[in-house]
Amino acid sequence: MKVDVIIIGSGAAGMMCALQAGQRGRSVVLIDHAKKLAEKIRISGGGRCNFTNLNTRPENFISDNPNFCRSALSRYTPQDFIALLQKHSITFHEKTLGQLFCDDESEAIIGMLRRECDEAGVKRFMSCEIEAIKHTPYVGEAGLGKKAKFYVSTSRGEFEAVSLVIATGGLSIPKTGATPYGYHVAEQFNVPITKLRAGLVPLTFAPDDWKPYSELTGVSFDAVVTTGKHSFRENVLVTHRGLSGPAILQASSYWQHGTPLHINMLPDADMFEVLSEQKTSKKQLANFLTQWFAKSFADVWCTQLTARTQVANLPLNQYNDKQRKMIADVLHDWQVMPSGTMGYAKAEVTCGGIDTRALSSKTMECNDVPGLYFIGEVVDVTGWLGGYNFQWAWASGYAAGQAV
Ligand SMILES: Cc1cc2nc3c(=O)[nH]c(=O)nc-3n(C[C@H](O)[C@H](O)[C@H](O)COP(=O)(O)OP(=O)(O)OC[C@H]3O[C@@H](n4cnc5c(N)ncnc54)[C@H](O)[C@@H]3O)c2cc1C
Repeated sequence: MKVDVIIIGSGAAGMMCALQAGQRGRSVVLIDHAKKLAEKIRISGGGRCNFTNLNTRPENFISDNPNFCRSALSRYTPQDFIALLQKHSITFHEKTLGQLFCDDESEAIIGMLRRECDEAGVKRFMSCEIEAIKHTPYVGEAGLGKKAKFYVSTSRGEFEAVSLVIATGGLSIPKTGATPYGYHVAEQFNVPITKLRAGLVPLTFAPDDWKPYSELTGVSFDAVVTTGKHSFRENVLVTHRGLSGPAILQASSYWQHGTPLHINMLPDADMFEVLSEQKTSKKQLANFLTQWFAKSFADVWCTQLTARTQVANLPLNQYNDKQRKMIADVLHDWQVMPSGTMGYAKAEVTCGGIDTRALSSKTMECNDVPGLYFIGEVVDVTGWLGGYNFQWAWASGYAAGQAV
């Protein structure tokens, strides 16, 4: 089949690119090895897809080349996607921090993208395995302006096009259809890739370090979590093997192995002052802390405090100023040393990817391979938690969809 555009990967970015290119009158095939369209949209946001964030700014994205995302994000904004939802009468709500979720199931968004693709004449090939990609390069003016051609052999036949878009996503949750295929295509065409690592992922601790906390699974508290120069204030959740919850997931995308996390467990209070006001109280420290934390957590935390600082869990009237200061310091800067992450099986995204210095920020086309485009999560642009990753998928898909 000869077409203008072949898109590999019918997830968020691939479908957005396909519908945009189709609307421009380009003939488009959208190929995916999975049985179902856009499985990650389906499971996202707890089944209600946190499809964008009203506060989207380039600062919410991680990349070796932080300015790269600016152009695409400015040309397809959260309001553009909202307008598309409204056209299809899909209702939504803001949960918190600018995060927009569907009122009903994520399936509504998949249905909307499918309808837009169908109306734009996009031909979809699901359960279609890619066997090989061959290429006759662009010859330029000297070669009479002959365009590049891409030949894609698949389990469902041969496809030929002048534009090939790779939208195969990242490595997280392999059971949704995630594969490293996009990175293999980059290698085939000598397009550089930055270091890959799991992002938005729960952090784990050495079993001996975590043993005292492992029984507290499910306990959560509001905190500011800092790693390097980045701080996030949201919930922290204790798990059997370590820490999770939004604040930890956000920090995990920046966290470097061998560095501690700093957790301010009571960011709204000056705990030295609070403890100083309790000089006559006979309440034990752990009991006093239950106004902010679950009793089980306060007990374990105080036992660990003693192990670390020799400050015992005593009635508050028995501490001196030095001890009060020590307790307050640890409450405001509880330092923990993760040993690793839960990996791609539990990660929401892959940090790193196609090196954006090899791409045009306007079109997502490879600088050295005309006609070849990379969009979405396979690219080294990773959003924070909260709808930013889908916004990048829409924006980069739109940018390529206008160019292919
Ligand atoms: C559990 C979970 C929840 C999430 N929730 C949110 C959220 O609420 N908000 C948010 O912004 N982000 C969320 N994300 C992240 C978001 O889903 C991704 O960043 C986004 O889907 C990336 O879009 P994409 O089109 O680049 O890739 P994908 O949506 O992953 O699509 C890639 C497509 O390529 C196909 N493919 C892969 N390999 C091949 C191959 N070899 N041959 C053919 N096809 C192939 C796959 O089958 C898939 O259909 C979540 C992620 C997970 C895992």
